[in-house]
Amino acid sequence: MTTALEGVADAPREAALILRAAAGLEAKDLIVDPDAPLGPAAGLAERHAARRAAGEPLSRILGRREFWGLSFALSPDALDPRPETETIVEAALAAMSARRAESLRFVDFGVGSGALIAALLSEFPAALGVGVDLSPGAAAQARANLAALGFADRAEIRVGDWGDGLEGAFDLIVANPPYVASGDIAGLAREVREHDPRLALDGGPDGYDAYRALIPHVARLLAPRGRFFVEVGAGQAEAVTAIAAAAGLSDLATRRDLAGIERVVSGGRAL
Ligand code: GLN
Repeated sequence: MTTALEGVADAPREAALILRAAAGLEAKDLIVDPDAPLGPAAGLAERHAARRAAGEPLSRILGRREFWGLSFALSPDALDPRPETETIVEAALAAMSARRAESLRFVDFGVGSGALIAALLSEFPAALGVGVDLSPGAAAQARANLAALGFADRAEIRVGDWGDGLEGAFDLIVANPPYVASGDIAGLAREVREHDPRLALDGGPDGYDAYRALIPHVARLLAPRGRFFVEVGAGQAEAVTAIAAAAGLSDLATRRDLAGIERVVSGGRAL
């Protein structure tokens, strides 16, 4: 199976995951009996391996992705949530830990699969969240994931353009907007370029279109003690901080991800 995945990073781990998923086994089953016959699951595992070898990410083949310890269904309409996006959850928790029991209002611009808003609702048990996405398919995926995780009564998912039609005030605003410069998309890994929705990746000619569009909504919608956290691509923190400063937002800071890349720009309301 590992040889079927030649060229795939971390092929042994992904091969084990494919075998497990195809056979409906748990991790311990393969440890107890690594040579357990796969039976009819062998054909399915082979088909999954062929798709993986052709550049489709395992999360899309299996239709699921873990984020912040929660499990999300993943449709082709939504960005595959990345581990580095958990940096937003860490940053929000660090900044707002004293307010965890309050009934805070959150908004997630570009909600995608719902991973970020669900992770935040799991950490702030009295909070209410609004998720917005331009893509009706992504919004439907977010709604389904929030319902499956038991957050339907604390979350509202809207199809819309950033903050259009929304009224404040929000205590926490988060976004992982499209930030790849249009001309850079062709050079991304096949897994990203061919399988993440372009709407979730394409940040316009210089990569900053989404920030220029959404930051004024952040400035308008943030509550007096509210905070915002937006993900940025490698090397973009300074320019996004400048866009936020130009909108009058205050107390601007950045946070690095586990790879040491400045990944999140945060701040407070305009003074
Ligand atoms: N993280 C994605 C990448 O791998 C980009 C996602 C985004 O634009 N928000 O490039």
